[in-house]
Amino acid sequence: MIIDCHGHYTTAPKELETFRKKQIDALKDPAQNPSRESLKISDDQIRESLEKAQLKFQRERGTDITIFSPRASAMAHHIGTEQTSIEWSRICNDLIHRVCSLYPENFIGVCQLPQSPGVPPANSIAELERCVNELGFVGCNLNPDPSGGHWTSPPLTDRHWYPLYEKMCELDVPAMVHVSSSCNPVFHATGAHYINADTTAFMQFISADLFKDFPTLKFVIPHGGGAVPFHWGRYRGLAQDMGRPPLTESVLKNVYFDTCVYHLPGIELLLKVVPLDNILFASEMVGAVKGIDPQTGHHYDDTKRYLDALPLSAADRHKLFEGNVRKVYPRLTKQIEKQVGQRHALPSKA
Ligand SMILES: [Zn+2]
Repeated sequence: MIIDCHGHYTTAPKELETFRKKQIDALKDPAQNPSRESLKISDDQIRESLEKAQLKFQRERGTDITIFSPRASAMAHHIGTEQTSIEWSRICNDLIHRVCSLYPENFIGVCQLPQSPGVPPANSIAELERCVNELGFVGCNLNPDPSGGHWTSPPLTDRHWYPLYEKMCELDVPAMVHVSSSCNPVFHATGAHYINADTTAFMQFISADLFKDFPTLKFVIPHGGGAVPFHWGRYRGLAQDMGRPPLTESVLKNVYFDTCVYHLPGIELLLKVVPLDNILFASEMVGAVKGIDPQTGHHYDDTKRYLDALPLSAADRHKLFEGNVRKVYPRLTKQIEKQVGQRHALPSKA
């Protein structure tokens, strides 16, 4: 089985975007706030939105299951109030649940958290619990910068975040460190803000004793870990200069990297530098980089091709494509069994 640990519902029916626009417009005139019930999306619309995109690519590329979450750039935690984020997160997470119910063999849910600048992360616990306990989700996306590019929150190692971490450990779910859109024009969202955040989170993790306090807490740093693998010597050296333990002891029991690096030399470097046990297969399709690489004739985000090009042992391939992700997402195996067992109770796929 090939499990892609990083996919977003970037192709959701346009009604979702229309609802969001109304919600944002209503910030100026609360009387115009659209009700949750006013958003109407049919099962057929959901099927259509996936059949020609994520499902098509799963079939063409030979992957089986995608760990699927709401569109990351649309989380936009910086917009509106905490209540805006709560409402928007519930709607987006419910839509992911519908996707997983329509295609239980293809998608497993991960939630967006209703974060908001200046609001304690503890306030996201209720939605996390709802998604895990009621919707069968296996993880969450945690935004280290709900301000959208102004970095007003304390580092991820600060006690500010601890109540949420306690709940993550209790529920046995990891978080993918994932920022959203940037409202700071200095940072291009997917080209700079995402990569900055990945790099920033890693530096925060090696600077403090977070994982002494939470030995079972797990994070996935997406987009290949940002700049980290390329600068591995810098981070090892900085840890040494700061009197910190080696990276293998301080973070590599808790921090994992995905393979959303969109060229072969990048993947070769990642696998050379980061222990294989800390790497999870992912493509983030259909997402940040949608085009076809003229040098290869294949989609940049067809990351399975890069791994297939490497001389990996069968045991290592199994870890990268399946074994590691099952370890990092401890609820995944049971959820797959639960969803695949449901297939006969649901309409057959097109
Ligand atoms: Zn993503």
